[in-house]
Amino acid sequence: MTATKTSTPGSVAAQLNTAETLCRQRGKRLTPIRRKVLEILLEQRKSVKAYELLEEIRRVQPGAAPPTVYRALDFLIEEGLIHRLDAVNAWSACLDAGGEPHDLLVICTGCGAVAEFSDPALSRQLARKVASAGFVLSHHETELRALCSACHAQEHAGHANPNP
Ligand SMILES: [Zn+2]
Ligand SMILES: [Zn+2]
Repeated sequence: MTATKTSTPGSVAAQLNTAETLCRQRGKRLTPIRRKVLEILLEQRKSVKAYELLEEIRRVQPGAAPPTVYRALDFLIEEGLIHRLDAVNAWSACLDAGGEPHDLLVICTGCGAVAEFSDPALSRQLARKVASAGFVLSHHETELRALCSACHAQEHAGHANPNP
């Protein structure tokens, strides 16, 4: 069965359902806090930092402690429902959790926008290159720091005008 690659805006409920189904199939539980963290990430549609996430969680659960949120994040990463983005020290929801695993993540260092790709051939090539230097790739996701077109345009404008 092939999953569609495009995620239409406003399909947060559908994606939560997919997550729910995946967890059930694996004998895992999408507890309320895990579900809430995922929901926030799905709604943001970009990478979210820990403090932003905690702020959102505390709107619905005022006493939520950071360790609780971190444990929920760890679970969601393990189940492939979200991505950890070291490049910007943040997390983003996987927008096609039921599809092929995303091994290539492009992250805008300006605004935190994320593009996800599945390219096993490229990843194998990268692993071979790493191996040729005597290393073993320790992570199955490769992050690429980039600028989205909007941030790139803004940066370009900044260069044109030294005193914005
Ligand atoms: Zn993904
Ligand atoms: Zn950007």
